[in-house]
Amino acid sequence: MIIGVPKEIKNNENRVALTPAGAKELIKRGHTVYVQSSAGEGSGFPDSEYQSAGAQMLPTIEKTYEIAEMIMKVKEPIEPEYKLIKKDQLVFTYFHFASYEPLTKAMMESKAVCLAYETVEKEDRSLPLLVPMSEVAGRMSVQEGAKYLEKPLKGRGILLGGVPGVRPAKVLILGGGVVGTNAAKMAAGMGADVTIMDVSLPRLRYLDDVMPANVNTFMSNEYNIRELIGSHDLIIGAVLIPGAKAPNLITRDMLKDMRPGTVLVDVAVDQGGCIETCKPTTHEDPTYIIDDVVHYCVANMPGAVPYTSTLALTNATLPYAIQLANKGWKQACKDNNELKSGLNIINGEIVYKAVGEAFNLPS
Ligand code: NAD
Repeated sequence: MIIGVPKEIKNNENRVALTPAGAKELIKRGHTVYVQSSAGEGSGFPDSEYQSAGAQMLPTIEKTYEIAEMIMKVKEPIEPEYKLIKKDQLVFTYFHFASYEPLTKAMMESKAVCLAYETVEKEDRSLPLLVPMSEVAGRMSVQEGAKYLEKPLKGRGILLGGVPGVRPAKVLILGGGVVGTNAAKMAAGMGADVTIMDVSLPRLRYLDDVMPANVNTFMSNEYNIRELIGSHDLIIGAVLIPGAKAPNLITRDMLKDMRPGTVLVDVAVDQGGCIETCKPTTHEDPTYIIDDVVHYCVANMPGAVPYTSTLALTNATLPYAIQLANKGWKQACKDNNELKSGLNIINGEIVYKAVGEAFNLPS
């Protein structure tokens, strides 16, 4: 199959859909890989590395779309790309169709085959192509939280791990899923005193089994949250209710019970946030302060570490890309239900129910 990897053109997107290592794996299997010149630069992969792996470089995005049977991307196509996508072309990327109707309509008009990373689903209902970004954001939430706890950045001026003779900081994590578990690991590793809250008792049992001794678990409910917020230095929001807005676990009135310089990192901001006072921020201007409490609510945290994020994402997408390239999308989706659940639009028709429902379109 002929695979094309365009350079991402969405603002501030430095990731790329395929690494030189990934290109080599596809080429080894008899496929041809075209990469748009400088597509990997933002992630630290120069053209020369792709060429050494056997890929061919193309000068423009137009040429890349023109030649490829399968386009591999990271972000959803944006307007200038709509007209480049062709009938029967397979496009494998994050789409998030339900949140943007113009994209859905443009992809229907293109008559392409749209296979969305975010709806590839395993039998246990986990979403293997979303997990890597949650891992990155979870680990990063502690790094950012530790930074904003520093006094010059308006935090309490407390070191996460403490020092001999001085107590460590206290970290409270709301939600013990992928983000929460990764945050807990990092915070615990830095020596903080960590508490994870979740509503799922089986999940708390699991976390209690696998986490080190400086991580405690606690049932998530309003009473318990109110009890803890006044004594914690860093609070991380990592809750998800699939398909719904995140619940407001920390309400506006709770801020007054926190100590000045407490830091809130609401990773769930992309689902509306689990902190009532959360509003999306950017890497350029990541924080704001309300009632002396520092809020960090960056909606695309992995974007700040494109090297790690690209490798994490492509580790997860490559096995699927290989199946698609080896068998073609029809046979690959027949053989693998995980891939089949990624199909969103085929030849102008919506085939993923939630997308059709979002816009009252037939599916
Ligand atoms: P997940 O499904 O793995 O975990 C969510 C956890 O929240 C589950 O364990 C669930 O039991 C728990 N939960 C549900 N209701 C709760 C409540 N009331 N109190 C406490 N816990 C509760 O999800 P995840 O992959 O960890 O993602 C968490 C959030 O982070 C999502 O909103 C996701 O979109 C977001 N995210 C944001 C970024 C970013 O850059 N900001 C990056 C990746 C993921």
